[in-house]
Amino acid sequence: MTEPVSNLDKFAPRVFSGIQPSGGLTLGNYLGAIKRFVDMQGEDYETIYCMVDMHAITVWQEPKALRRNTRELCAGFIASGIDPERSILFNQSQVPEHAQLGWIFNCVARMGWMKRMTQFKDKAGKNAEAASLGLFGYPALMAADILVYHATHVPVGEDQKQHLELTRDIAAKFNHDYEVDFFPLTEPVIEGAATRVMSLRDGSKKMSKSDPSDMSRINMTDDADAIASKIRKARTDPEALPSEAAGLSDRPEARNLVNIYAALADTSVDGVLAEMGGKQFSEFKPALAELAVEKMAPISTEMARLMQEPAEIDAILARGAERARELAEPILKQTYEIVGMVR
Ligand code: ATP
Ligand code: MG
Repeated sequence: MTEPVSNLDKFAPRVFSGIQPSGGLTLGNYLGAIKRFVDMQGEDYETIYCMVDMHAITVWQEPKALRRNTRELCAGFIASGIDPERSILFNQSQVPEHAQLGWIFNCVARMGWMKRMTQFKDKAGKNAEAASLGLFGYPALMAADILVYHATHVPVGEDQKQHLELTRDIAAKFNHDYEVDFFPLTEPVIEGAATRVMSLRDGSKKMSKSDPSDMSRINMTDDADAIASKIRKARTDPEALPSEAAGLSDRPEARNLVNIYAALADTSVDGVLAEMGGKQFSEFKPALAELAVEKMAPISTEMARLMQEPAEIDAILARGAERARELAEPILKQTYEIVGMVR
């Protein structure tokens, strides 16, 4: 498909993003997503953040764990600085318009497009025949999550780039087929030093909630001791840190730790190396551990406190869902009209 011309100037600036309640949150989720969601709250954008529980069940989730993880994710958002007044904060299944628009997009997206999605291949693994249909269709629902709000900007980590391209393809095909300019061609926002935080044990693998090794990741619920010990034991190489970013190009583990430092300190990789260049890991790791504990430990403490108040969390989610529906309902209604459904 030729790249259609951006139509974003026709839409009010609006940010949407989601995270799956598929397990404990990691430092990757924090730096690649949540911290940036917090930074985007402000005057310029309306911000909508969603716990995408319907995406989570594309792979098996124990019902009890799903409920707990959804509340814990909400606690993680709030403890990190998402204000449920300034942002709309809710879980996906409480806003049925996502699934309704998702079905329409199942009929817009092409099999050939979906078969190119690398995340499906990664997650389905060798036994793709046994994967759920939902896991395969997931990116079409993700397009609906975004477009049911006419969101213009979506902050995500690097791994979501391909799904955002699919979202634009779906919007463009819908607009083309129905001869409308109804859905925005949403822009991904993949910015900062930590758009792809890697495993602490293997610099070629993304840090992930689902990695069997707990030492591979920093969890947002880890206490100060756990954070420090995981950083101390993180895999590295024997060289000192370089003084310029180019010196990290074939040193994935070193690059990862420097990226994490830069993102936590709100500075650039060059900024970190200007200060740390020439230092050995025996010096850099304690500095990183101290910074990580300083930034992350208060969040985990606050999450634990909020988790004592599940009724309060549920009330926040219900109120967020109500506000989300006010935006989504008229957009879905117009979509049905465009498609020709009798109402
Ligand atoms: P799962 O393994 O269940 O897919 P996940 O950790 O990848 O979980 P998601 O809910 O799929 O979490 O992703 C939520 C957000 O976090 C997305 O914007 C994604 O790009 C971002 N993200 C996830 N892992 C990382 C990472 N290692 N580095 C940077 N961003 C990440
Ligand atoms: Mg993921």
